[in-house]
Amino acid sequence: MKTALTTLSSIVLAMFVNNVNAAQSKIIYAGSLLVAPEQALKKEQTLVVTNDKITAIKEGYVSKSVLNLPDAEIVNLKNQFVMPGLIDMHVHVTFERDAKANPHRWATEYEADYALRSIKYLQRTLDAGFTSVRDLGSDYQVIFPLKRAIERQDIAGPRIFAAGNTISPSGGHADMHGYRKDITDVFKTTLGICNGADDCRRAVREVIKSGADVIKITATGGVLSNTAAGVNQQLTDDELSAIVDTAHHLGRMVTAHAHGTEGIKAALRAGVDSIEHGSYLDKKTVDLFNKTQAYLVPTLLAGATVSEEVLTNPNMPAAIANKVREVTPKMQASFKLALKNKVNIAFGTDSGVSRHGLNANEFGLMVDNGMSEAHAIKSATVYAAKLLGQSHQLGDLSVGKQADIISVNGSPLEDINVLKNVQFVMKAGQIYKQ
Ligand SMILES: [Zn+2]
Repeated sequence: MKTALTTLSSIVLAMFVNNVNAAQSKIIYAGSLLVAPEQALKKEQTLVVTNDKITAIKEGYVSKSVLNLPDAEIVNLKNQFVMPGLIDMHVHVTFERDAKANPHRWATEYEADYALRSIKYLQRTLDAGFTSVRDLGSDYQVIFPLKRAIERQDIAGPRIFAAGNTISPSGGHADMHGYRKDITDVFKTTLGICNGADDCRRAVREVIKSGADVIKITATGGVLSNTAAGVNQQLTDDELSAIVDTAHHLGRMVTAHAHGTEGIKAALRAGVDSIEHGSYLDKKTVDLFNKTQAYLVPTLLAGATVSEEVLTNPNMPAAIANKVREVTPKMQASFKLALKNKVNIAFGTDSGVSRHGLNANEFGLMVDNGMSEAHAIKSATVYAAKLLGQSHQLGDLSVGKQADIISVNGSPLEDINVLKNVQFVMKAGQIYKQ
């Protein structure tokens, strides 16, 4: 009996020891460390990462033996600026605009084609230092399997928070457009298309049932839809209220694609948590932002990208080209107005409109339009984490948070463009680029 007990206790002890040994530790020596954008920059720091989390930060370069971590891996970033992983609040990882691609491939390809093509977009995004993204509008049959594949570490990519299918009225920005009615009718049952308040409640519930972390709606028309419907309000006030109430009851935030002023105001009045693009802002709209505390996700890079395409792509449909010429110059003016009036701003690029992996180009546009470097970094870290509802684990490098860590040559607080060349990427304690 005694022997049996001894055997049992040695098994339990062995399991415990194995568990301790299974913990993977990494010790990062950081030449400069920005724990959070609002904190002072620190020199010569040691960060300890255990499994997926930051477990200690020490002054100076502390050795393995002093830390009592003999098996830890040392990561030498003594000549680097080390900071939190970046977060892009508006991407579409399942596609990338390509003027030369077959415009009808939606009719020839399967979901797997989109998923397989996305693998390189995800890799580029992560390599660019974006350790988390919010995907705002990708088919549920593609985006949620990709998200799970990344979580299983089958493929490399940023942590994904996804909207899945967009909530849009029939004929709206996210509905099928640009084809004969009998062709678009085949897609009538697309998840997320709704008409009337009750039908929109149903659509929100079904999109959440398909896996959505956040609800994306098209409150107004869009620039890249092949319709001449303009960029004004498309969902009615009662539809907007029904969508926001239903989503909030199910614990999901709502973000509204919105360009036209009245559409932005209607979405804010209905209680959305953020506005994407926000191209036509005026003082009253800005006041409404401040009253509701909603965030603006400016996507200046999308405007800059399509403005360039208008000049070089003769095949762009007139309905789209006209909207590009009309809308994109307004985006930067509206960004400046929002900045001046202290509207909450979170970083977002609409990547997919621009090439994946160039996400950091947005920083330069923000700073060129008057935002400080520290504020721009905050928009892609602490503020983005807040808008994701993930401040408890993302957005800064304090002890207990996820080890999402990047490094660059030089200080982005002095030259924001160093963020275009990220040298080191760690996500959840795993090194992806070194
Ligand atoms: Zn978008």
